[in-house]
Amino acid sequence: MPTIRVAGIKIVKKMKTEKKMSRPKSREKRKKAFMQEAEKLFDEMDNWYDKNPDASFEDIENRARIERREMMGKSLGVLINGRDVGKTLEAPDCDECEKAMTFKDYREKMIYGIEGDTVLERAYYVCDNCEKQTLFPPR
Ligand SMILES: [Zn+2]
Repeated sequence: MPTIRVAGIKIVKKMKTEKKMSRPKSREKRKKAFMQEAEKLFDEMDNWYDKNPDASFEDIENRARIERREMMGKSLGVLINGRDVGKTLEAPDCDECEKAMTFKDYREKMIYGIEGDTVLERAYYVCDNCEKQTLFPPR
């Protein structure tokens, strides 16, 4: 898998293609998805504590750190992917031939961030003129 580095963050391009829901999503929908992740974190922690009633504060904190990382990664995905993910009204021009590129689909990139790992979706363009010339809008 191709790996690139942007501002110290490792980005691995995943070539898996998947059709996602229409976007951008409203704030109400993004908030709902975010709250579902928060509820999931609470349930995981609460279930874990049920099974480990003698856990020390440090044990609970260590467990929460793992769950938080998972929640943070997914929540950032909700926050970011629910907005503009690089699909523009007018297609961007090819760097090589300067002709308008064609929107292909949305692709995913895994970002290994400081607070969590997030799958970002980005609009994916190809140039019909120059073979293999592709573009993930930057960000
Ligand atoms: Zn081109």
